[in-house]
Amino acid sequence: MSYDIKKYFPYAQIREQQSLAILYALQNFLKNDKRFVIIEAGTGVGKSAIGLTVSKYIHDNYHYNGDYGNGTWYLTTQKILQDQYIKDFGQSEKMRSVKSAKNHACTSSGTNCKEGQMMLRNSDKKDNQWRKCIFECPYKKEKQEFLESWDSVANFSYFLTETNSSGKIKPRKLLVIDEAHNTESVLSNFVEMGISQYFAEKIIKVKWPAKVTPVNFVKWVLTDYYPKLQSQILFRVAPF
Ligand code: SF4
Repeated sequence: MSYDIKKYFPYAQIREQQSLAILYALQNFLKNDKRFVIIEAGTGVGKSAIGLTVSKYIHDNYHYNGDYGNGTWYLTTQKILQDQYIKDFGQSEKMRSVKSAKNHACTSSGTNCKEGQMMLRNSDKKDNQWRKCIFECPYKKEKQEFLESWDSVANFSYFLTETNSSGKIKPRKLLVIDEAHNTESVLSNFVEMGISQYFAEKIIKVKWPAKVTPVNFVKWVLTDYYPKLQSQILFRVAPF
C-alpha cells in the first residue's frame, strides 16, 4: 500500500528517517490493524512532525465508527516540549495547548491563575478583577480552544488530572505520546500509596515481608497488610 504523505507533512522537506517512521506507523495502524505503534528515533530527527503527519493522514483517510472524537491529543512529559509544539505548529497547524491553572501566567491578575482565583475569594464583586475572571478570562478561552482544536497538546500531569476529574477530555482517534519511554513512571507516580515499615509493624502490628520484591510485596499488601489495616480502621472508627 502506498501513502501520499507529502501533502500532510508540515515542512517543505521530509527526511528519510521521518518518511520511514511515518510509513511504518501508517502501515501498522491502517493495514495491520495495530492499536499501538512505538517509534524510537534519536534527537534531531523531528519526531513531532512525524506524529503530526500520521495524525493528519489518519483523519483524512480513515473512518472509524467507534465512540472516539475527532482530532489528536499530544502528550509531553515536559512543559518546555509543550511550548515547542506551539512554537512549531501553533500558527501553521492551529495546534492548541493548555497547562494547569498554577502554570498559567495571567496578565490580568499579574500572577498565576491559581493564585489569582484565591485572591478573588476575598475581593469584592465590584472589583475590576472579578469581572475579568468571570467574563473575560483568557485561561477559560485557552482551555476551550484546546478542547475544540483538532491538534491539542498538554503535559501528562495536566491531562491525567483533567481526564480523571473534569471529564471534558474525551477519547480521540489518536493519542501521540512524546518521550513515551516515561509513560510507565508518569502513570505510576500519578497515584501513589506510601507504606512504611514503621507504620506496618508498630501501628497496625503486621510483620514486614522477609523479602521485598514487587510480586512479593503486592501479595503481602493483599493478604496481610490490607486486611489488617481494614480491621484496625473499623476497630478505631467504631467508638465514634
Ligand atoms: S482572569 Fe482568568 S486566568 Fe486570570 S486569575 Fe482570573 S480566572 Fe485566572
